[in-house]
Amino acid sequence: MSRAEPRPSDAQGPGHHEGRGSLLPLDGVGTVSRVRGGRYEVTLSGGVSIDASIRGRLKRQKRTGDRVVIGDRVRVAVSPDGSGTIEEVLPRSTELVRRGPGGRRPKILAANLDRLVGVVAARSPDVTPELVDRLLVVGESGGLPCTLVINKVDLPGAPEVAAPLVRLYGRIGYRVICTSVEAGIGLDELAEVLCSGSSALVGPSGVGKSSLLNALEPGLELRVGDVSWKTRRGRHTTVSSRLIDLECGGRVADTPGIGDVGVWGVEPTELDQFFPDLRSLAERCRFRGCSHVREPECAVRGAVARGEIDEGRYRSYCALREEAG
Ligand code: GDP
Ligand code: ZN
Repeated sequence: MSRAEPRPSDAQGPGHHEGRGSLLPLDGVGTVSRVRGGRYEVTLSGGVSIDASIRGRLKRQKRTGDRVVIGDRVRVAVSPDGSGTIEEVLPRSTELVRRGPGGRRPKILAANLDRLVGVVAARSPDVTPELVDRLLVVGESGGLPCTLVINKVDLPGAPEVAAPLVRLYGRIGYRVICTSVEAGIGLDELAEVLCSGSSALVGPSGVGKSSLLNALEPGLELRVGDVSWKTRRGRHTTVSSRLIDLECGGRVADTPGIGDVGVWGVEPTELDQFFPDLRSLAERCRFRGCSHVREPECAVRGAVARGEIDEGRYRSYCALREEAG
């Protein structure tokens, strides 16, 4: 990526720049590749990046919660000095949403990503089925196809934890990749996923997200350990998010709080739509809008009783349903 050269003011002479950026070739649509302290880096087609601010009108919208985030497709006007103004945010195809702390407003972390890669560790920190289901529902509800990564399969006892997860989530239709940074397992398969389009690696702290990215691309040098890339949010540092360009061609969202994504704003009545294994059965319940919790002749509960739906998945559904209100 190269930065846009400021256009020398004497190249055209004063007066040639009529209207706001109308004569400049850079006006157009781009992707927000970095957000930092109210400044936006926008990558235009052709790979040129410009520094942009947002129009006052959009700023007001921002205050009401609809921020401009990494991955947003925006229309920018470029002024003679090469700086830009974001005029419009184009409709999003997907959204990665983080639950607001303490029930506050949700926060959109990234837009238009191609997939969510849920990362858990087979051991240390231990994985629970509910954690996996939560990550997948975040992806499903944001319109993102999901892949599950089970890292640290080198640790003692890890294969016994990983095997049933591989079977369960594979059967539901998710791609599951077992990895170990330590033992160099599964990294090629993960690269295959991450090297096209744009991804968010989402999962709790300590599962190895930074380590996996560093292993794929040593040049990244993301910090590994307790203070790592997604929690860089000290009181004195500016919150910054970016889309990391991988050398292999993919992009990965690097944004604070990616470990705390939770389920938010999902209507209780639509929750079953975000569980692919429940989704198709829900139509067969006796009652329309069946919650699958207590109604009679519920096709979902019937399938759980017959062992066709995993009990852990059903428990996660019930827990999230309870949470959704
Ligand atoms: P993040 O918080 O998800 O970004 O996790 P980090 O990448 O910071 O890793 C947390 C800890 O787990 C570090 O001490 C890593 O060295 C360790 N770790 C990461 N991947 C593996 C792995 O595959 N196997 C083992 N045994 N440890 C790992
Ligand atoms: Zn039902």
